[in-house]
Amino acid sequence: AAKQAGRGSVREYDYNFDTSIQDRFRMEQEIRLALDRNEFFLEYQPIMCTRTHRLTGYEALVRWQHPERGRIPPDQFIGVAEECGLIAELGEWVVRRACADAACWSNGLSVSVNVSPLQFATSDLPAVITAAVRDAGLDPARLDIEITENTLLQQGRQNMEILRSLRNLGAGVVMDDFGTGYSSLSYLRDFQFDKVKIDRSFIRDMLQQPHSAAIVDAILSLGKGLGIDIVAEGIETSEQLAYLEKRCCTLVQGYFIGRPGREIAEAPSESVLESLREAV
Ligand code: C2E
Ligand code: MG
Ligand code: MG
Ligand code: MG
Repeated sequence: AAKQAGRGSVREYDYNFDTSIQDRFRMEQEIRLALDRNEFFLEYQPIMCTRTHRLTGYEALVRWQHPERGRIPPDQFIGVAEECGLIAELGEWVVRRACADAACWSNGLSVSVNVSPLQFATSDLPAVITAAVRDAGLDPARLDIEITENTLLQQGRQNMEILRSLRNLGAGVVMDDFGTGYSSLSYLRDFQFDKVKIDRSFIRDMLQQPHSAAIVDAILSLGKGLGIDIVAEGIETSEQLAYLEKRCCTLVQGYFIGRPGREIAEAPSESVLESLREAV
Protein backbone atom coordinates (compact mmCIF):
# COMPACT_ATOMS: atom_id res chain seq x y z
CA ALA A 1 0.00 0.00 0.00
CA ALA A 2 2.87 2.34 0.78
CA LYS A 3 4.04 2.17 -2.82
CA GLN A 4 0.74 3.60 -3.99
CA ALA A 5 0.35 6.09 -1.19
CA GLY A 6 1.07 9.06 -3.42
CA ARG A 7 -2.05 8.56 -5.45
CA GLY A 8 -4.16 10.73 -3.24
CA SER A 9 -7.74 10.57 -2.21
CA VAL A 10 -8.69 7.26 -3.76
CA ARG A 11 -8.79 4.44 -1.25
CA GLU A 12 -6.83 1.49 -2.52
CA TYR A 13 -6.62 -1.92 -0.96
CA ASP A 14 -3.28 -3.66 -1.44
CA TYR A 15 -3.75 -7.32 -2.24
CA ASN A 16 0.01 -7.84 -2.36
CA PHE A 17 0.07 -6.96 1.29
CA ASP A 18 -1.17 -10.36 2.44
CA THR A 19 -0.53 -13.14 0.02
CA SER A 20 -1.71 -16.16 1.96
CA ILE A 21 -3.27 -18.93 -0.11
CA GLN A 22 -6.67 -18.13 1.38
CA ASP A 23 -6.51 -14.50 0.41
CA ARG A 24 -5.48 -15.41 -3.12
CA PHE A 25 -8.30 -17.89 -3.29
CA ARG A 26 -10.75 -15.28 -2.04
CA MET A 27 -9.51 -12.84 -4.61
CA GLU A 28 -9.93 -15.37 -7.41
CA GLN A 29 -13.54 -15.81 -6.44
CA GLU A 30 -13.97 -12.08 -6.21
CA ILE A 31 -12.55 -11.50 -9.69
CA ARG A 32 -14.98 -14.09 -11.01
CA LEU A 33 -17.83 -12.33 -9.24
CA ALA A 34 -16.60 -8.93 -10.35
CA LEU A 35 -16.79 -10.01 -13.99
CA ASP A 36 -20.39 -11.10 -13.48
CA ARG A 37 -21.31 -8.01 -11.51
CA ASN A 38 -19.62 -5.61 -13.89
CA GLU A 39 -17.30 -4.10 -11.29
CA PHE A 40 -14.50 -3.42 -13.75
CA PHE A 41 -14.38 -0.20 -15.70
CA LEU A 42 -12.03 1.61 -18.02
CA GLU A 43 -10.39 4.98 -17.75
CA TYR A 44 -8.89 6.71 -20.74
CA GLN A 45 -5.67 8.69 -20.75
CA PRO A 46 -5.03 11.05 -23.68
CA ILE A 47 -2.00 10.79 -25.98
CA MET A 48 -0.95 14.00 -27.73
CA CYS A 49 1.07 14.81 -30.84
CA THR A 50 3.73 17.46 -30.25
CA ARG A 51 3.74 18.48 -33.92
CA THR A 52 0.04 19.14 -34.37
CA HIS A 53 -0.69 19.93 -30.71
CA ARG A 54 -3.69 17.67 -30.98
CA LEU A 55 -4.75 14.51 -29.24
CA THR A 56 -4.27 11.36 -31.31
CA GLY A 57 -5.95 8.81 -29.06
CA TYR A 58 -6.40 7.39 -25.59
CA GLU A 59 -4.94 4.50 -23.63
CA ALA A 60 -7.55 2.31 -21.95
CA LEU A 61 -6.64 1.48 -18.33
CA VAL A 62 -8.69 -1.02 -16.36
CA ARG A 63 -9.84 -0.39 -12.78
CA TRP A 64 -11.86 -2.40 -10.30
CA GLN A 65 -14.56 -0.76 -8.22
CA HIS A 66 -14.78 -3.24 -5.36
CA PRO A 67 -18.01 -3.00 -3.33
CA GLU A 68 -16.18 -3.00 0.02
CA ARG A 69 -12.59 -2.21 -0.70
CA GLY A 70 -13.11 0.66 -3.07
CA ARG A 71 -11.05 1.23 -6.11
CA ILE A 72 -8.28 -1.27 -6.88
CA PRO A 73 -5.55 -0.45 -9.44
CA PRO A 74 -4.57 -2.96 -12.17
CA ASP A 75 -1.15 -3.78 -10.74
CA GLN A 76 -2.99 -5.46 -7.87
CA PHE A 77 -5.31 -7.75 -9.79
CA ILE A 78 -3.92 -8.39 -13.29
CA GLY A 79 -1.30 -10.75 -11.81
CA VAL A 80 -3.89 -12.67 -9.82
CA ALA A 81 -6.19 -12.85 -12.83
CA GLU A 82 -3.28 -14.35 -14.76
CA GLU A 83 -2.54 -16.89 -12.05
CA CYS A 84 -6.10 -18.09 -11.72
CA GLY A 85 -6.83 -18.36 -15.41
CA LEU A 86 -9.24 -15.43 -15.61
CA ILE A 87 -7.01 -13.11 -17.61
CA ALA A 88 -8.44 -14.24 -20.96
CA GLU A 89 -11.95 -13.40 -19.83
CA LEU A 90 -10.96 -10.11 -18.21
CA GLY A 91 -8.81 -9.23 -21.20
CA GLU A 92 -11.63 -9.91 -23.61
CA TRP A 93 -13.94 -7.73 -21.55
CA VAL A 94 -11.38 -4.91 -21.76
CA VAL A 95 -10.97 -5.24 -25.54
CA ARG A 96 -14.74 -5.32 -26.10
CA ARG A 97 -15.45 -2.40 -23.78
CA ALA A 98 -12.67 -0.29 -25.31
CA CYS A 99 -13.85 -1.00 -28.86
CA ALA A 100 -17.47 -0.24 -27.98
CA ASP A 101 -16.49 3.03 -26.28
CA ALA A 102 -14.18 4.13 -29.10
CA ALA A 103 -16.89 3.43 -31.66
CA CYS A 104 -18.97 6.09 -29.87
CA TRP A 105 -16.29 8.79 -29.87
CA SER A 106 -17.33 11.40 -32.37
CA ASN A 107 -13.75 12.65 -32.75
CA GLY A 108 -12.72 9.37 -34.41
CA LEU A 109 -9.52 9.09 -32.36
CA SER A 110 -7.85 5.80 -31.58
CA VAL A 111 -7.85 3.56 -28.52
CA SER A 112 -4.85 1.68 -27.17
CA VAL A 113 -5.41 -1.52 -25.19
CA ASN A 114 -2.91 -3.34 -22.95
CA VAL A 115 -2.49 -7.08 -23.28
CA SER A 116 -0.67 -9.02 -20.57
CA PRO A 117 1.94 -11.69 -21.37
CA LEU A 118 -0.25 -14.61 -20.33
CA GLN A 119 -3.25 -13.19 -22.14
CA PHE A 120 -1.12 -12.97 -25.27
CA ALA A 121 0.08 -16.54 -24.83
CA THR A 122 -3.21 -18.20 -23.92
CA SER A 123 -6.04 -16.44 -25.71
CA ASP A 124 -6.56 -16.39 -29.43
CA LEU A 125 -5.98 -12.66 -29.61
CA PRO A 126 -6.56 -12.19 -33.35
CA ALA A 127 -9.92 -13.98 -33.05
CA VAL A 128 -10.92 -12.00 -29.95
CA ILE A 129 -10.06 -8.73 -31.63
CA THR A 130 -11.71 -9.60 -34.91
CA ALA A 131 -14.95 -10.29 -33.06
CA ALA A 132 -14.66 -7.23 -30.84
CA VAL A 133 -14.14 -4.71 -33.65
CA ARG A 134 -16.86 -6.34 -35.72
CA ASP A 135 -19.41 -6.31 -32.90
CA ALA A 136 -18.53 -2.73 -31.99
CA GLY A 137 -18.51 -1.56 -35.59
CA LEU A 138 -15.06 -0.06 -35.01
CA ASP A 139 -12.57 0.54 -37.79
CA PRO A 140 -9.65 -1.69 -36.67
CA ALA A 141 -7.25 1.05 -37.75
CA ARG A 142 -8.45 2.92 -34.65
CA LEU A 143 -7.25 0.14 -32.35
CA ASP A 144 -3.70 -0.25 -30.99
CA ILE A 145 -2.57 -3.29 -29.01
CA GLU A 146 0.15 -2.71 -26.39
CA ILE A 147 2.45 -5.55 -25.42
CA THR A 148 5.68 -5.52 -23.42
CA GLU A 149 9.08 -7.02 -24.10
CA ASN A 150 8.38 -9.71 -21.55
CA THR A 151 5.41 -10.87 -23.59
CA LEU A 152 7.71 -11.82 -26.42
CA LEU A 153 10.10 -13.57 -24.09
CA GLN A 154 7.65 -16.38 -23.46
CA GLN A 155 6.96 -18.59 -26.44
CA GLY A 156 9.01 -17.94 -29.55
CA ARG A 157 8.00 -18.52 -33.15
CA GLN A 158 4.26 -18.20 -32.65
CA ASN A 159 4.67 -14.66 -31.36
CA MET A 160 5.53 -13.23 -34.74
CA GLU A 161 2.53 -14.96 -36.29
CA ILE A 162 0.22 -13.41 -33.72
CA LEU A 163 1.74 -9.97 -34.23
CA ARG A 164 1.42 -10.31 -38.00
CA SER A 165 -2.21 -11.38 -37.71
CA LEU A 166 -2.96 -8.34 -35.57
CA ARG A 167 -1.28 -6.18 -38.18
CA ASN A 168 -3.25 -7.90 -40.98
CA LEU A 169 -6.47 -7.16 -39.12
CA GLY A 170 -5.57 -3.51 -39.42
CA ALA A 171 -4.75 -2.92 -35.75
CA GLY A 172 -1.57 -1.14 -34.63
CA VAL A 173 1.02 -2.98 -32.57
CA VAL A 174 2.78 -1.08 -29.81
CA MET A 175 5.77 -2.02 -27.65
CA ASP A 176 5.02 -0.76 -24.12
CA ASP A 177 7.42 0.01 -21.24
CA PHE A 178 10.40 -0.22 -23.57
CA GLY A 179 13.72 -0.51 -21.81
CA THR A 180 12.54 -2.10 -18.57
CA GLY A 181 11.84 -5.70 -19.53
CA TYR A 182 14.22 -8.16 -21.01
CA SER A 183 14.98 -5.69 -23.74
CA SER A 184 15.98 -7.21 -26.96
CA LEU A 185 16.64 -5.09 -29.97
CA SER A 186 15.98 -8.14 -32.13
CA TYR A 187 12.25 -7.69 -31.40
CA LEU A 188 12.46 -4.33 -33.11
CA ARG A 189 14.41 -5.86 -35.96
CA ASP A 190 12.05 -8.81 -36.46
CA PHE A 191 8.77 -6.95 -36.30
CA GLN A 192 7.89 -3.48 -37.47
CA PHE A 193 6.08 -2.04 -34.46
CA ASP A 194 3.84 0.94 -35.09
CA LYS A 195 4.90 2.60 -31.88
CA VAL A 196 7.35 2.12 -29.05
CA LYS A 197 6.62 3.62 -25.64
CA ILE A 198 9.59 4.71 -23.56
CA ASP A 199 9.04 3.53 -20.02
CA ARG A 200 8.07 6.28 -17.67
CA SER A 201 10.98 5.61 -15.29
CA PHE A 202 13.35 7.07 -17.91
CA ILE A 203 11.13 10.11 -18.44
CA ARG A 204 10.86 10.65 -14.70
CA ASP A 205 14.64 10.76 -14.25
CA MET A 206 15.89 12.19 -17.54
CA LEU A 207 16.25 15.82 -16.41
CA GLN A 208 18.27 14.83 -13.34
CA GLN A 209 20.11 11.76 -14.55
CA PRO A 210 22.35 11.94 -17.62
CA HIS A 211 22.10 8.16 -18.02
CA SER A 212 18.31 8.29 -18.30
CA ALA A 213 18.56 11.20 -20.74
CA ALA A 214 21.05 9.25 -22.84
CA ILE A 215 18.68 6.28 -22.98
CA VAL A 216 15.73 8.48 -23.94
CA ASP A 217 17.81 10.10 -26.68
CA ALA A 218 18.97 6.69 -27.92
CA ILE A 219 15.42 5.33 -28.12
CA LEU A 220 14.32 8.45 -29.99
CA SER A 221 17.07 8.05 -32.56
CA LEU A 222 16.36 4.34 -32.81
CA GLY A 223 12.76 5.22 -33.61
CA LYS A 224 13.89 7.64 -36.26
CA GLY A 225 16.17 5.08 -37.86
CA LEU A 226 13.57 2.32 -37.79
CA GLY A 227 10.66 4.51 -38.82
CA ILE A 228 8.75 3.85 -35.60
CA ASP A 229 6.80 6.52 -33.72
CA ILE A 230 8.10 6.91 -30.19
CA VAL A 231 5.67 7.66 -27.35
CA ALA A 232 7.05 9.12 -24.13
CA GLU A 233 4.91 8.13 -21.17
CA GLY A 234 4.74 9.52 -17.66
CA ILE A 235 5.25 13.20 -18.47
CA GLU A 236 4.47 15.13 -15.31
CA THR A 237 6.05 18.55 -15.91
CA SER A 238 6.24 21.18 -18.63
CA GLU A 239 10.06 20.88 -18.49
CA GLN A 240 9.86 17.22 -19.41
CA LEU A 241 7.46 18.04 -22.23
CA ALA A 242 9.76 20.81 -23.52
CA TYR A 243 12.77 18.49 -23.47
CA LEU A 244 10.96 15.83 -25.50
CA GLU A 245 9.42 18.32 -27.90
CA LYS A 246 12.86 19.73 -28.66
CA ARG A 247 14.08 16.23 -29.51
CA CYS A 248 11.19 15.65 -31.90
CA CYS A 249 9.43 13.08 -29.76
CA THR A 250 6.09 13.19 -31.56
CA LEU A 251 3.81 11.43 -29.12
CA VAL A 252 3.48 12.20 -25.43
CA GLN A 253 1.39 10.91 -22.54
CA GLY A 254 1.34 11.60 -18.82
CA TYR A 255 -0.41 13.39 -15.99
CA PHE A 256 0.83 16.73 -17.32
CA ILE A 257 -0.96 16.12 -20.64
CA GLY A 258 -3.99 14.54 -19.02
CA ARG A 259 -4.92 12.12 -16.26
CA PRO A 260 -6.81 8.93 -16.96
CA GLY A 261 -10.55 9.54 -16.62
CA ARG A 262 -13.90 7.98 -17.36
CA GLU A 263 -14.69 10.73 -19.83
CA ILE A 264 -12.31 11.41 -22.68
CA ALA A 265 -10.66 14.82 -22.90
CA GLU A 266 -11.47 16.49 -26.21
CA ALA A 267 -8.32 18.61 -26.48
CA PRO A 268 -5.09 19.34 -24.59
CA SER A 269 -5.56 21.88 -21.81
CA GLU A 270 -4.56 25.51 -22.29
CA SER A 271 -1.57 25.10 -19.95
CA VAL A 272 -0.23 22.23 -22.04
CA LEU A 273 -0.63 24.23 -25.25
CA GLU A 274 1.04 27.18 -23.62
CA SER A 275 4.04 25.15 -22.52
CA LEU A 276 4.36 23.78 -26.07
CA ARG A 277 4.34 27.31 -27.49
CA GLU A 278 6.99 28.37 -25.01
CA ALA A 279 9.16 25.38 -25.91
CA VAL A 280 9.46 26.46 -29.56
P1 C2E B 1 1.06 0.93 -18.60
O1 C2E B 1 0.41 0.24 -19.74
O2 C2E B 1 2.48 1.30 -18.77
O3 C2E B 1 0.13 2.18 -18.31
C1 C2E B 1 0.59 3.42 -17.88
C2 C2E B 1 0.46 3.55 -16.38
O4 C2E B 1 1.11 4.76 -15.98
C3 C2E B 1 -0.96 3.68 -15.89
O5 C2E B 1 -1.02 3.14 -14.58
C4 C2E B 1 -1.16 5.20 -15.83
O6 C2E B 1 -2.18 5.61 -14.98
C5 C2E B 1 0.19 5.60 -15.31
N1 C2E B 1 0.57 6.98 -15.65
C6 C2E B 1 0.23 7.69 -16.74
N2 C2E B 1 0.79 8.90 -16.73
C7 C2E B 1 1.52 8.97 -15.59
C8 C2E B 1 2.33 9.99 -15.01
O7 C2E B 1 2.50 11.09 -15.53
N3 C2E B 1 2.92 9.70 -13.82
C9 C2E B 1 2.76 8.49 -13.21
N4 C2E B 1 3.37 8.30 -12.05
N5 C2E B 1 2.00 7.51 -13.74
C10 C2E B 1 1.38 7.74 -14.91
P2 C2E B 1 -2.18 2.12 -14.17
O8 C2E B 1 -3.47 2.52 -14.78
O9 C2E B 1 -2.11 1.93 -12.70
O10 C2E B 1 -1.75 0.80 -14.90
C11 C2E B 1 -0.57 0.13 -14.53
C12 C2E B 1 -0.30 -1.01 -15.49
O11 C2E B 1 -1.32 -2.00 -15.42
C13 C2E B 1 -0.28 -0.58 -16.95
O12 C2E B 1 0.96 0.02 -17.26
C14 C2E B 1 -0.50 -1.90 -17.64
O13 C2E B 1 0.70 -2.64 -17.70
C15 C2E B 1 -1.45 -2.59 -16.68
N6 C2E B 1 -2.82 -2.44 -17.19
C16 C2E B 1 -3.64 -1.38 -17.11
N7 C2E B 1 -4.82 -1.64 -17.73
C17 C2E B 1 -4.71 -2.88 -18.23
C18 C2E B 1 -5.60 -3.72 -19.00
O14 C2E B 1 -6.72 -3.36 -19.37
N8 C2E B 1 -5.14 -4.97 -19.32
C19 C2E B 1 -3.89 -5.41 -18.95
N9 C2E B 1 -3.51 -6.64 -19.33
N10 C2E B 1 -3.04 -4.64 -18.25
C20 C2E B 1 -3.44 -3.39 -17.89
MG1 MG C 1 0.28 0.61 -21.67
MG1 MG D 1 3.77 1.71 -20.11
MG1 MG E 1 3.07 -1.64 -17.89
